[in-house]
Amino acid sequence: MIKTYSYAAQKPTDRLAPFQIERRDPGADDVQIDILFCGVCHSDLHTARNEWNNTLYPSVPGHEIVGKVTAVGANVTHFKVGDLAGVGCMVDSCQHCASCAEGEEQYCENGFTGTYNGPVFGGENTFGGYSDKIVVKEKFVLKISHSDNLAAVAPLLCAGITTYSPLHHWKVGPGKKVGVVGLGGLGHMAVKIAHAMGAHVVLFTTSPNKREDGLRLGADEVIVSKNADEMATQTNQLDFILNTVAAPHNLDPFLNLLKRDGTMTLVGAPDQPHPSPGVFNLIFKRRSIAGSLIGGIQETQEMLDFCARHGIVSDIEMIHMKDINEAYERMIKGDVKYRFVIDMATLKEEASAA
Ligand code: NAP
Ligand code: ZN
Repeated sequence: MIKTYSYAAQKPTDRLAPFQIERRDPGADDVQIDILFCGVCHSDLHTARNEWNNTLYPSVPGHEIVGKVTAVGANVTHFKVGDLAGVGCMVDSCQHCASCAEGEEQYCENGFTGTYNGPVFGGENTFGGYSDKIVVKEKFVLKISHSDNLAAVAPLLCAGITTYSPLHHWKVGPGKKVGVVGLGGLGHMAVKIAHAMGAHVVLFTTSPNKREDGLRLGADEVIVSKNADEMATQTNQLDFILNTVAAPHNLDPFLNLLKRDGTMTLVGAPDQPHPSPGVFNLIFKRRSIAGSLIGGIQETQEMLDFCARHGIVSDIEMIHMKDINEAYERMIKGDVKYRFVIDMATLKEEASAA
């Protein structure tokens, strides 16, 4: 077993604190990775604090991992020691159901295994990227082709794929007018990616002070969603809306902005339900509400390559491992531009001083 330093929550109300875990020795199909950077997703916070009522403790969050390969098993063919590697939200799935066969492991009918918090249908806990090393089956390890700014690549592994996948699935591209709701970690990636896909992008934010950033990141228009007059300018205009908001809110004002046959896809996963939307908004224009979960491994690789080609990375604030609890508080206030990334060298320094 491999001694591994990490930060864990021991219960919902605890601050995350140093914790030692063990990783398995790499088997024939495994890749061992020395973690360089790990992004901080709002899902980490939902999980550490048991906001979805499914947390296994101790909880070591982190599913936006970039690192260097330090060992490979005998059957590993795509990675060698010294390569850069990424790990996202999943580390395993059944590999034989219809969804796995189609490369949609996130919808594995037998439940994928999360990088942290274990298999989605229950089972043994898994420990995520707030740690100095990880051992992952090759099939779930991604190639990183960005050559620099690796810390800013880490958030692509969740925020990038969670937005790329629905934008791609609902065929966002030139000639399409696309709304992005919420300018946080996911939202700012959605703006960059939808812009690179060639769509006309309208950002909806509750924060008037994010207007300039929205335009800089690639939005063609920015609407402050609390302002009814601004919202009215978009009525029946949008082909597709990607809603990334992490809190319950009224969906009707956004559904009204869709054209006939338009879809609003929810990726935000608040701990409480949204108020039920009115049916007339939906039936009079045959509009849809949908959901989308991260993305498959092949699609994640596609997204990483797309972002590398288009020079897309995340806008980040680098933090020390020990500052994770303050980062969570700032994330709740929407005070992050636009993703925290943990410099894992700071955990290694802490561990060697201990
Ligand atoms: P984040 O960085 O905290 O961003 C969320 C954004 O939502 C905020 O920046 C804010 O944008 C907006 N917002 C927050 N509270 C709000 C409120 N009360 N009313 C209106 N808007 C509010 O979070 P994230 O990491 O992007 O994650 C967003 C959500 O997606 C989380 O629930 C997370 O768990 C979920 N998620 C889902 C998947 C999936 O597979 N479906 C994957 C990853 C994450 P403005 O200031 O611009 O309004
Ligand atoms: Zn995430």
